Parts: sequence; C-alpha cells; structure tokens
Amino acid sequence: MTATELAGRTALVTGGASGIGRATAELLAARGALVTVLDLDPSTVTGPLLARRADVTDDTEVRTAVAAAVEEMGGLDILVNNAGIGAQGTVEDNDDTQWQRVLDVNVLGIVRTSRAALPHLRARAGGAIVNTCSIAATAGLPQRALYSASKGAVLSLTLAMAADHVREGVRVNCVNPGTVDTPWVGRLLDAAPDPAAERAALQARQPTGRLVTAAEVAAAIAYLASPAAGATTGTALAVDGGMQGLRLRPE
Ligand code: NAD
Repeated sequence: MTATELAGRTALVTGGASGIGRATAELLAARGALVTVLDLDPSTVTGPLLARRADVTDDTEVRTAVAAAVEEMGGLDILVNNAGIGAQGTVEDNDDTQWQRVLDVNVLGIVRTSRAALPHLRARAGGAIVNTCSIAATAGLPQRALYSASKGAVLSLTLAMAADHVREGVRVNCVNPGTVDTPWVGRLLDAAPDPAAERAALQARQPTGRLVTAAEVAAAIAYLASPAAGATTGTALAVDGGMQGLRLRPE
C-alpha cells in the first residue's frame, strides 16, 4: 500500500480514540484518507484526524454525527465499526442488563452506524465496511460467554451484510484479532494481583510469544478497506499471532 492509495477517500472509525481504532484512524490518514473518529470521548484525538462525540448505543447521536461527518468530509467511502466493550464470565455470571449493554454496543452499535452510513457508501464507487470482530467469535474461550456471543453476532452480521450490499458495490469484511496490546488489555492486566507476571503468562500463551500490536490489526483493516481488496467481501481476516489456526506441540 502506498502513502497515497487512499487519497481522496473518506473514512469513519468508531471507537477511534484508543487502541485498535486509533491506530486504524492514523494509518488510514497516513495512506491519504480524510478520517473522522467517532468516540464516546474524542478529546485526545488530534489533527490530521477529525473527531466527533457519539455513543454508538444512541441512534439519534449516531445519525447526527454520521450526517455531520459526511457533510464535513464531502462523502463517505469507508466505515470501520470498531467500538466495542468486553465482558467476562459464564452465562451464570452476567445478568440481563449486562447482556443487553454489551450486545447494544458490540452488535447494535454496528447496525446503527451502518444504517446511517450505507446510503453514503452506496453513492460512491467502491464503498467498504470493516468490522472489528474477534477470535472469540469462533474459538470457544472460557469465561467469555457474553463477549463471545456478541462477536459471533458480529461475524454473522458481517457475512449477511456482505451478501446484502455486494451488488451495490459495498464490500463488508471483518478482522478477528487475538490478544492485542491496547489500553483495554492493559486495564485487564492492571487488575491482576501481579500485572507483570500476568503479562508474561499471556505472552507465553501466544504461538508467536508476543501480543499482537494495534498497528498490525490496523494494517489488516486498512487493507480490507482499500481498493487492493476490491475482490474481497464476506471474509474474516485473523490477526491473532496464530492463536486460532495453529496447534503447536508442547515444547
Ligand atoms: P479500547 O478500549 O482501547 O478502545 C475502544 C474505544 O471504543 C475507546 O476509545 C472507547 O471510548 C470506544 N467506545 C467504547 N464504547 C463506545 C460507545 N458506546 N460508543 C462509542 N465509542 C465507544 O479497546 P481496543 O482493545 O482497541 O478494542 C477495540 C475493538 O477491538 C473492540 O471491538 C474489541 O472487542 C476488539 N478486540 C480487541 C482485542 C484486544 O485484545 N484488545 C481483541 C479482539 C477484538
């Protein structure tokens, strides 16, 4: 990909103030795109990125922010649905309110932004949506019932949307990150009794021996959003250091 590959293109990145979303917004901008971040708290987002506050659980806020961003940027070519929250526990550990909250952000959040963005994406040649899913969508991770169900829905939604919009020239794909070194994972590690030991154990569980970087997930998202991926729709690209696919023998 060249520094000008996305020149003249415009992009929206939800949850773009931190972690994977921030790295993605910065990379898309570095490739020449005009980028607006939508986030609960966009106060840390600085130029060349544009930023607007929007909670993806609020349909009115989403519609207003998407319309204003599209107006400001002069159209929309790329939507990155990245905003998401985590949850730990088995089905017995999370009550209905917690289930509704996580599904509201992780699944309905994508529905709301996509609904608001699709008329604009359709109006351009080569519109693209990339959803941030997770290996939790297909892996059967312990203590992640709610989070996994939400990401399973993101995967199914990605495939269904890809089918619905392929003839309209809009591609829809997702990335499935493994364990990514973002502020989110930092918060989880900090909550452990010995964060350094927990980090070492987490790294040791990765086939590559290290966590995935936000920049590596951003690179995959930028590829799927770019014209180079023009024949790719309805796919999930793993960026997980081999977590999903490899079965290593114990050393
Ligand atoms: P992060 O917490 O660093 O960043 C998430 C961003 O989303 C924050 O800026 C936050 O303000 C924003 N956000 C949260 N709720 C929002 C809402 N209701 N409306 C608008 N913005 C909201 O997290 P991250 O690790 O960069 O995760 C980003 C995405 O990647 C999530 O969808 C997550 O499920 C997915 N993911 C992360 C990992 C990982 O290991 N970090 C692995 C797989 C998938």
